[in-house]
Amino acid sequence: MNFHVFFDLDNTLWDFKGNSRDTLLELFAYFRLNSIIPDAESFIEIYEGFNAECWAAYQRNEMRKDFLRHQRFFLTLAHFGFKNRTLAKKLGGEYVARSPLKTKLLPHAREVVQGLSAEFPLHIITNGFQEVQAVKLRESGLAPYFKEIITSEKAGHKKPSPRIFQLALKRAGALAGQSWMVGDDYQADALGGLQSGLRPIWLESSESELVQPGIQRVGSLLEVPALILGRPLSDFKQS
Ligand SMILES: [Mg+2]
Repeated sequence: MNFHVFFDLDNTLWDFKGNSRDTLLELFAYFRLNSIIPDAESFIEIYEGFNAECWAAYQRNEMRKDFLRHQRFFLTLAHFGFKNRTLAKKLGGEYVARSPLKTKLLPHAREVVQGLSAEFPLHIITNGFQEVQAVKLRESGLAPYFKEIITSEKAGHKKPSPRIFQLALKRAGALAGQSWMVGDDYQADALGGLQSGLRPIWLESSESELVQPGIQRVGSLLEVPALILGRPLSDFKQS
């Protein structure tokens, strides 16, 4: 069988949350934000809330990328009573320059990708920005394991749109029925993959949510090879 495996990048392989946190800690110190914000933890907490709101607006095509980059910092500063667009733009620029250079990965990401890449062509489908995602893959050492990198920015469509999955399948020379989609976002990756005829694997540690038939849920990347290969990673490492 000519299987292909498509991976999401952020919070599926690349530890977006951990890397973002490390970057925000750096920015807090670099810009001496302690003069306007009580502590780094409050800064991160408030930023993460506004960042999620801005991203949701971006996903709905209600906010442009360039505006999102500083608006999340503007709202954070404003929350602490400091409305300063100039500083927000500096923070936005530094964040985008520094965070993709961070290299924390999800547990077992490297071994799973390395192991699977010996068996099947692997590809990335991401809703992230083109230049940022390429840097993350290169700096984290994951780039050599992937054949096609499809970003929503280049595709002109975001997951869960079938258009980006169709484009990815075409670029990879893959058939939907022989392709797996591994990702952490239920709507974008799992449901999006399912609706486009791929076999979705949803990376989600909580047990509470209901999962639609056809979607396989895993709590760790380490479970992914067994689903695809029918045997665990340790077995095929030795084979
Ligand atoms: Mg993700």
